[in-house]
Amino acid sequence: MDIKELITKSSKEQRQALLNKEVSARELTEAVYDCIEASDEKIGAYNSLTKDFALETAKKVDEKIKNNEELPPLAGISLALKDNINLKSYPTTASSKILENFISPYDATVTKKMKSNLIPIVGKVNLDEFAMGSSTENSAFKITRNPWNLKKVPGGSSGGSAAAVAAGEATLALGSDTGGSIRLPASYCGLVGLKPTYGRVSRYGLIAFASSLDQIGPITRTVEDAALLLNVIAGHDEKDSTSLNLEVPDFTKELRNDLKGVKIGYIKELCSEGLAEDVASAVKNTLETYKSLGAEIVEISLPLMKYSIAVYYIVATAEASSNLARFDGVKYGYRAKDADNLYDMYVKTRAQGFGDEVKRRIMLGTYALSSGYYDAYYKKAQQVRRLVKNDFDKAFEKVDVLLSPTCPHTAFDIGSRIEDPLSMYLTDIATITANLAGIPAMNVPVGLDKDSMPIGIQLQANSLNEAKLLNVAFKLEEAVQFNYSTPIKMLV
Ligand code: GLN
Repeated sequence: MDIKELITKSSKEQRQALLNKEVSARELTEAVYDCIEASDEKIGAYNSLTKDFALETAKKVDEKIKNNEELPPLAGISLALKDNINLKSYPTTASSKILENFISPYDATVTKKMKSNLIPIVGKVNLDEFAMGSSTENSAFKITRNPWNLKKVPGGSSGGSAAAVAAGEATLALGSDTGGSIRLPASYCGLVGLKPTYGRVSRYGLIAFASSLDQIGPITRTVEDAALLLNVIAGHDEKDSTSLNLEVPDFTKELRNDLKGVKIGYIKELCSEGLAEDVASAVKNTLETYKSLGAEIVEISLPLMKYSIAVYYIVATAEASSNLARFDGVKYGYRAKDADNLYDMYVKTRAQGFGDEVKRRIMLGTYALSSGYYDAYYKKAQQVRRLVKNDFDKAFEKVDVLLSPTCPHTAFDIGSRIEDPLSMYLTDIATITANLAGIPAMNVPVGLDKDSMPIGIQLQANSLNEAKLLNVAFKLEEAVQFNYSTPIKMLV
């Protein structure tokens, strides 16, 4: 197979070619950089490249192959790292002016795992500033475009991660998901995106947005690749006290199990009103597909769902206002030059360093936590959050997996929502509850709408049930045979 073609495939084909010595890891990695050079001016996925690091990793892979040593499952497979995750000695910007010249002094735990698994990180990819947004238009540096249609957003906040994989500029990516930031861009770009159970993956070295919601997870072309990458990143880490001290199963083990007797509940509130026509028919077809695979389909109601956006925008902004207090121009990052005194320096640094959306969140969050309002807003939101979780607990007494669209519509035009924060917030109506409840959730691409934009289905499972979730996703993928490489062909 031609190497240009090979880098557009899943890790499986690439690994086979490496093991058969048809290509070297160096050649594979260089081909990815050739693709970045050819396409990224149009796509805008990368904030910075880490080429010497990637080539050094590829060299280690080639040595192992030469010596017939055992190769970790994703060794030599290119990965794009969201630019809010640290890679030691390279920039981490969170796509914010306030961290524009920041160089990571240490590796995130997930990055360390990339290193020990010989996964070449090819670069740091764009996001909405501090992961706040749904379109990647909130980056302080540039807009990332959807490889399926350059006029459309790739989704956000992990838009760079998804666009890179969809455009052939990396085979795998890591994103972070606080309210949908892995699943939404995966859905808009025709990819698989998985937010693991809260605590499954260490966040040490991830720039914190909302600490009770943030999770790191894979964006990939196939369900199997998502399982393989989750195998690499999952596990306890003493540096993240929220990471779960549990044994990590092999997430590829159950992928191919048949679905006889598996119960799938479609979420009534998300599958009836307000869906784009093509999304509604994709949901219907998917349910038919599952039925024909032997699954049992039932309707599930999550009545408190309607409060989830309101609850999220109190909890997430409150935590963000606290987490972002550290960016004050003193210890690291941008510092305003024209300040008269310390207080003035704080104020000017933050006024100049943060973008509008980040400021909006800090103000909202500070208000919700302020004395006199804390009980009315923050405490109330936490109570409703508990009730949302109870809804899920009840649902999972009846079904194994919940189904809905990942978003009520497909990718929207660049510029069409950015002036209207509320309409932007509403894109996460289906994804936000999984973060509030801490449960694993993923996107699986199932088809295209009338404008040839990808449609994604969201599957959710009970806490720690990623293996079942991946199994149900794999069977759908197998039945649908979605062609993820369409945009790569259009670009070259
Ligand atoms: N779009 C949501 C927000 O703006 C979620 C972002 C995320 O998951 N990081 O907060």
